[in-house]
Amino acid sequence: MNTYKMGLQSFFALVEALEQIPAIGKKSAQKIALSLSVENKFLGLKVAHTLEEAARNVRVCERCLGLSEAEICEICLDCERENGELCIVAHQRDIFILESMGEFRGRYFVLDSKAQVQDIDFSLLARRIESESITEVIFALSPTLANEAIMLFVEDTLQNSNLRFTKIAQGVPTGIGLDSVDQLSLSRALSARVKI
Ligand SMILES: [Zn+2]
Repeated sequence: MNTYKMGLQSFFALVEALEQIPAIGKKSAQKIALSLSVENKFLGLKVAHTLEEAARNVRVCERCLGLSEAEICEICLDCERENGELCIVAHQRDIFILESMGEFRGRYFVLDSKAQVQDIDFSLLARRIESESITEVIFALSPTLANEAIMLFVEDTLQNSNLRFTKIAQGVPTGIGLDSVDQLSLSRALSARVKI
């Protein structure tokens, strides 16, 4: 490390930390570090404070594996959302997208796309289907080969005569996440869901 860099240890420690965030490259990390530590110190301290609070408080809901600040999230606790529909999503952030549309009134289950099919907690899913009287499992996954395989596997594993399995309709392009789909297309895909 050159002497100039040696004299800016705090700055480059911040750059290095930022570089570890997915989707932030070296140039962006330097820009953000400059902005937060020099140009807008107030924002920098606000980010530091809110980040610390979020890291301390945000966790995963024990029932749906979505984000929560308590053991069980608001959606899982809301009796009015016990309408027999369980929507399976790939990512926790997919819940934000579907909630912002405001059309789905059931509950969720997050697969976490990093997980392999064998990592899906089927006993948790089966318990929920039983205790929440689930009648329809809706897959809100983008139509990739891997996701098709997951849907079939989940359907196979949970198979029961009282349960209907549906997926959001075509119109959601192949191979991209829900966050890249416009709301109208997603809303249509959800209301025109098809039986698997
Ligand atoms: Zn939950």
